[in-house]
Amino acid sequence: MFDYHVHTHYSNDCTFDMESYILPAIEKGLKGICFTDHVDIEYPSASIEFELDYSKYTREIKRLKDRYNGKLEIFTGIEFGMQPHILETDTAFFQDKSFDYILGSIHTADRKELYGGDFLAGKSEHNSILDYFNDMIFCVNHFKSYHNLGHLDAVSRYINSGSFEASKYMEYIEEVLRTIVQNGKGIELNTSGKRYALPYFHPEPSIIKLYKQLGGEIVTLGSDSHSPSTLGYGFDEAAEILQHCGLKYYTIYKGGKPEFIKL
Ligand SMILES: [Zn+2]
Ligand SMILES: [Zn+2]
Repeated sequence: MFDYHVHTHYSNDCTFDMESYILPAIEKGLKGICFTDHVDIEYPSASIEFELDYSKYTREIKRLKDRYNGKLEIFTGIEFGMQPHILETDTAFFQDKSFDYILGSIHTADRKELYGGDFLAGKSEHNSILDYFNDMIFCVNHFKSYHNLGHLDAVSRYINSGSFEASKYMEYIEEVLRTIVQNGKGIELNTSGKRYALPYFHPEPSIIKLYKQLGGEIVTLGSDSHSPSTLGYGFDEAAEILQHCGLKYYTIYKGGKPEFIKL
């Protein structure tokens, strides 16, 4: 299988170098991996900068592609943090760069970070979650460069444990999914949820089912690994979930074009 969500030391929150993922990926029987390091422009934290040295990054991936040719397929991606107020960056950042895959993720709500809980300050949990989904609706309507939307319900990691009920937000989630389908984009099934002590991956099955009902067919699989030990985490179960939701294929991207692989 292909793991399309892998971080390395090019991400501020990860210390492992790229090459340290290669042998574990082969040993786990993965056919390929896509590096998706963070680019979070104007991330609202003074101590964290998520920028990327593009030429160094792509050179390193090219070196590994050549070195492990025939053993592991390696793809160039990024996880792009989308926020409504950085919309103009969407075209500016990408105009002189190319990636196999761009995962668009929401890591903030109303310009405050999810991680650490700043987005909850001075508001009810409900209103904070609405900020998150309203940002997401704006971004899927206006951003053009991303391919798939990352970990759609990841906000559930950052509120009181167990208190997130997707059914309360389904009209917002449906708007997100309808827009994604209309624009030919996809979603990600991100298996890290269970590593955050949640009972499901991101997004939970009811959301994947709704995506499929609305005509969605494009789902990448990603472990969101920040360590080689979690590559391909939960992928057998993830494949079963997708089948259970009515999907027959999962998706990888090469040069920005989706390819479908039978589950
Ligand atoms: Zn993310
Ligand atoms: Zn990630």
